[in-house]
Amino acid sequence: MEHTRLLQLDFWMPRGRLRTPRRKVSSPIPRLAFAASVMLTAAVFLVALVGVGSALSLSPRDSMKVYTQCNERGKVALTFDDGPYQYMPDICKILEDNNITGTFFVNSNNWDCIYNEPQPTNLKAAYAAGHQIGLHTWSHPDLTTLTQSPDDMDFQFQANIASVQRIIGVYPAFMRPPYGNYNDDVLAYFAKYSLNPVTWNFDSEDSTDNATAEKCERNYDTIQSTTPGSAIALNHETFEPTAHEVLPYAIQQLRAKGYTFCTVAECVGLPPYNDALAVAPDPAPTFEWTCDQSS
Ligand SMILES: [Zn+2]
Repeated sequence: MEHTRLLQLDFWMPRGRLRTPRRKVSSPIPRLAFAASVMLTAAVFLVALVGVGSALSLSPRDSMKVYTQCNERGKVALTFDDGPYQYMPDICKILEDNNITGTFFVNSNNWDCIYNEPQPTNLKAAYAAGHQIGLHTWSHPDLTTLTQSPDDMDFQFQANIASVQRIIGVYPAFMRPPYGNYNDDVLAYFAKYSLNPVTWNFDSEDSTDNATAEKCERNYDTIQSTTPGSAIALNHETFEPTAHEVLPYAIQQLRAKGYTFCTVAECVGLPPYNDALAVAPDPAPTFEWTCDQSS
């Protein structure tokens, strides 16, 4: 949508510029300048048309926007994947001490079962504090390897959605595909479940085999040169140094460089949850609060 608006701006601005020089044409030289400006305008117009044309001829992948960065320069959305896990409360506290809302992309059965205490309590607290809760599939498979098994694909979406609904009563509007991997078939499932796909354009690399706090911090040092002015920053709430060392460092460094913080939903200008699809949370745990069904 934002891309379309930008195209429209490009499309209309040259027309406005056309009128001003026309009134000022009084000698051959300005006329030449005017002719050049008309040609330039025509060229810009054609480029805009080509842009619009290519946007209209959508391939299946183009029809579903995959969000990788914020709309506004100077914004950073700090995201934390693979929980809920034991460091979630510590991450939330650091964010809250700094008046920052972050975004958590949660699995249901990955490092811990989302139904096992204290995870439901932690998830409720994160949601109540204003952090955005997004989805990350039931058990973190590479979805591009599952597309030939529709039942498995549906399970990864449905069971993940249901677990979050049972605990906090919202239908998240965003999901991050595990490993950032997707193809046209995977995106069709995002569309089926009314979910906006989001990946990232900055990776702290805290999920690599030899990750250390030092390496992650050096990555944050380079964020201005490695991202185009705004960042959706990938972190993992399951990596202890992220919670206790990297996050405080990153916040301090990003603030010093003039960045401000937002959730993923805020940074791309969309609602965090799909209210039309929401169901009330379970008032208390039920027999369905189990990960035994995991595939
Ligand atoms: Zn993940």
